[in-house]
Amino acid sequence: MEGIASRADMIRQFGECLRGALILPKDEDYDEARKVYNACHDRRPAMIVQAADVADVMTAVTFAREHELPLAVRGGGHSVPGFGTCDDGLVLSLERMRGIRVDPERHSVRAEGGSTWADLNHATAAFGMATTGGIVSTTGIAGLTLGGGLGYLARSCGLACDNLLSADVVTAEGCFLTCSESRHEDLFWAIRGGGGNFGVVTSFEYRLHAVADILGGPTFYPLDADVIRGYRTLIAEAPEELGAILGITLGPTLPFLPETWHGRPVVVVLTCWSGPRGEDEAIRERLGRLGPVLGQYVQRMPYPVINTLFDELLPAGLYHYWKGCFTKHLSEEAIDVHVDYGARVPCIQSATLLFPIDGACQRVAPDATAFAYRDASFATVLGPSWPDPDDSERNIDWGRAYYQALRPYSEEGGYVNFMSGDDDDRVRANYRQNYDRLIKLKTRYDPANLFRLNQNIAPSSG
Ligand code: FAD
Repeated sequence: MEGIASRADMIRQFGECLRGALILPKDEDYDEARKVYNACHDRRPAMIVQAADVADVMTAVTFAREHELPLAVRGGGHSVPGFGTCDDGLVLSLERMRGIRVDPERHSVRAEGGSTWADLNHATAAFGMATTGGIVSTTGIAGLTLGGGLGYLARSCGLACDNLLSADVVTAEGCFLTCSESRHEDLFWAIRGGGGNFGVVTSFEYRLHAVADILGGPTFYPLDADVIRGYRTLIAEAPEELGAILGITLGPTLPFLPETWHGRPVVVVLTCWSGPRGEDEAIRERLGRLGPVLGQYVQRMPYPVINTLFDELLPAGLYHYWKGCFTKHLSEEAIDVHVDYGARVPCIQSATLLFPIDGACQRVAPDATAFAYRDASFATVLGPSWPDPDDSERNIDWGRAYYQALRPYSEEGGYVNFMSGDDDDRVRANYRQNYDRLIKLKTRYDPANLFRLNQNIAPSSG
C-alpha cells in the first residue's frame, strides 16, 4: 500500500512542477493524447507530458532519467516507425510549444520544437521568405530537421539542417545548451542529421531565403520507363530553383485527371519553381517533354500552399510502413524495378517518391554535418500507406519486396527519416565516415542512451 501511495505522490508532485499537462491512463484525454500519426503504433505510455516550455522539458527529461522510464520525444508525431510514443514509459510531447519569431533583418526565424511546417511556412511567408521543409504541412519541423530534411527548396537552399543557424537543446542530464557554429559546435554538428539521439531540441533557428509565390503542383503521366528517364534528365539539366519530386502511385480521384486514370498506376512529378516568373512557360515546356501529360495542376501559388496539397490525401490515422535508400545514379536497372513494382502499387495512398538531393545539398562537405550522403542524387522512399488494418500484410510485403529488388542498384545507407523500425542494422551505413564521431558524441552527451527511441546511435560501452 505504502509503495502505491508514494508512487502516486511522486507522480502528483511531478505534475505540479509542470506548466503544461501531465496525462495519465485514467484521464479522459489519454486516448487522444497517446495517438501518433501512424496507426500501426497503438502504444500505452505510463504518462504523457505536453510540455508548455523549456522548464517543463528539463523537468520531464530529469524525471524520466531518474526513474529509469523509457522516454519517447515527440515533435510533430510523424515518425513512421512510431518513435514518438512507447509502452509503459514517458512520452514528452512538444505539441504545445509552437511559438515562432521571424527576424526579417537577419533573414532568420526561430521556431519552438513542436512546430509543424504549416506553422513555420505561415509565419515566414508573411515576410516573403521560406526555408527548406517537408512537403506535407502537418509534419513536425523537429524530426524532419534532425534527420536532414528534404523538400522542394533543397536543390537551391540545401537540406533543412543545412539552414540551421542554432538550436536550443536539453541534454540527457537535463542541462540547457545553445549550440551553433561557434557554441557547442560538436553538438551542433551531431544534430544536423543525427536525429533525436543527442537531446530534446526546444527551438530551432533557421536561415531564410527570399521565396514568395512559386509555380508548382503535380503533373501526371502514364507509368513508363521513358517518363522516369525524362525526369532523370530534367533533374540533371534544370536550374536548381526547380524542386521536382518523382512519385509512382495510383491515379487519385482528382478533377483534372481523367476518370479512366483513377486508380491506375501513374508517374507524378511534383514541382515547385521558385525562380523568376519569366521562366514559368519554360518550366511548363520542360514538364511537357517528359511524356504524354494525363493531367496537370501547375499554377502560381503562395509557397505555403504547395506544402498543403497532399495533406488531405495523407491524414493522421492511416497505416504506414516505409523503406528508404539513397540512389547515386538512377540506373536503367533501377528504373525497370520502379516500373515493375509501380505497376503493383497496392493502395491509392501508397507511393514511391524520389527526392533529389543535388545542388546546394551536395555543396556541403560530407563531414561538415552528421548527414553523410552528400554524393547521392536521390533519397528514395518506398512508402506503403493504407487505411484498412486488414490490408497490412499485402502492403508491407510489397514494400519489403520492392526494397529487396532495388537494393543492388542503391547505396547501402538510407535517409534516416524514411527508414522503418526494422532497419536498425543499417544505422552505421547511413552515417558512413561520420559514424565513429557520432558514437563519441553520443557517449559524451547521452552515455546511458536515454534518447534511444530513434534510429539509434548506441553509445560506446567501454
Ligand atoms: P516525431 O514522430 O515527433 O519524431 C520523430 C523523431 O524525432 C523521433 O525519434 C523523436 O524522438 C525525434 N524528435 C521529435 N521531436 C524532437 C525534438 N524536439 N528534439 C529531439 N528529438 C525530437 N521527410 C522529409 O525529409 N521531407 C518530407 O517532405 C517528408 N514528408 C513526410 C510526409 C509525411 C506524411 C510523413 C509521415 C513523413 C514525412 N517525412 C519527410 C519524414 C519525416 O521527416 C519524419 O517522419 C520525421 O521524423 C517527422 O518528424 P516529426 O517531428 O513529425 O516526428
